[in-house]
Amino acid sequence: MIVMNALSIDLEEWYHSELVEGRRSRTSQAAEATKPILDLLDQYQTKASFFVVGEVAEQNPDLIQSIFQRGHEIGCHTFSHKLVWNLDESHLRGELDRFHSIMQKILGKANIKGFRAPCFSIDNRNKWALKVLSDFGYQYDASIFPLKINPLYGIRGAPTRPYRISFEDVRKEDPQSPLMEFPLCPLKIAGLRIPISGGFYLRALPQSFLHWGLGRINRSQPFLVYFHPWEGYEKTPRFKLPFYNRVISYYGISSALKKFEFLLRRFRFARVDEVLDLR
Ligand SMILES: [Zn+2]
Repeated sequence: MIVMNALSIDLEEWYHSELVEGRRSRTSQAAEATKPILDLLDQYQTKASFFVVGEVAEQNPDLIQSIFQRGHEIGCHTFSHKLVWNLDESHLRGELDRFHSIMQKILGKANIKGFRAPCFSIDNRNKWALKVLSDFGYQYDASIFPLKINPLYGIRGAPTRPYRISFEDVRKEDPQSPLMEFPLCPLKIAGLRIPISGGFYLRALPQSFLHWGLGRINRSQPFLVYFHPWEGYEKTPRFKLPFYNRVISYYGISSALKKFEFLLRRFRFARVDEVLDLR
């Protein structure tokens, strides 16, 4: 059985990463770091969803137009990459307003269906955010990380396949909910949930293991890959960070694009809205 998986790119600058944020230099690399990804997607005739940070769009309107014209989905990754946990409702609305007005300017329309919170920063503490997304016309969210392995994010016990998300408890399904959720889909093995399909996990795990593990997930459901342009870009600035942050931020950058291409070769992918059948 061939399963159509969802491919997402969080389009942000290297300095938006939570572990290096606050560095003084803010050299923009988004356009050059995204180009090889776009070329690979063209080469493998694959469409993806780009969750874009509004301020990156503001500085790179041509890049956004090019992504859109190539047939990829444009989703929202907030305006300024602030963690949703650190916002109150009016601030989140402000972020979305700014995001939508810049997209209106660049694309002439702002029919944005999908949202991903920076650092998967939606859980039951700020479940009110789901109602805000729905008010803005979003049809799906992709911010739920259904396991706890990272000190910053993750929710134990949330579903691991797409579901209509309850506004009362993000771990629950509600058939009446206006919002679909596409959570990260971990590998389940020996009673454990192991994240393998994005970010550091994708960079760190051997290709053969990724192939085996993702194939195993595909026996019963699609998975969702997430990737950042800075993760596959050789010139991403490297800072002297504490050991843990350094490993999480920089490990495997030089081989990440090769792995990304390997996935495109071995699995089938489409935009998140297509996999969810939201067109
Ligand atoms: Zn991000």
